[in-house]
Amino acid sequence: MERTEILAKKAKTLLDIGGAVGPAWMDGAACREAILRELHPDGARCPRCGHALPEGKAGAFWEVRRMRCDACGAWFTALSGTPMDRMHIGFRCLAILALGVASGWSASEIARRIDRDPDTVRRYVRRFAG
Ligand SMILES: [Zn+2]
Repeated sequence: MERTEILAKKAKTLLDIGGAVGPAWMDGAACREAILRELHPDGARCPRCGHALPEGKAGAFWEVRRMRCDACGAWFTALSGTPMDRMHIGFRCLAILALGVASGWSASEIARRIDRDPDTVRRYVRRFAG
């Protein structure tokens, strides 16, 4: 086999693998942690008053458990007040969505990978646009 044929075969294999990448390939906990750190660069805080959560409550915040602010009494999770609030998308799918947007994939391509309708993908993208 010629070297160019071998390279072409490898490239096709890499394209096949790349085309198959989806949420099932992702580590859910790693996606959750990385995405929440992007959404909350200043750490765990109440979305209403900005009160920094004490060390003992921060763990629940990063696990997206519902909690109450000691300062203002607001109930919230780490998703409250973020584009992901009531978005009904998992962190693994959101990671693929973000990768797709950053890579210039079409809404249809992203939709195929996360098993959603392309219109739903466009709606997700608009939420993050502000
Ligand atoms: Zn508060």
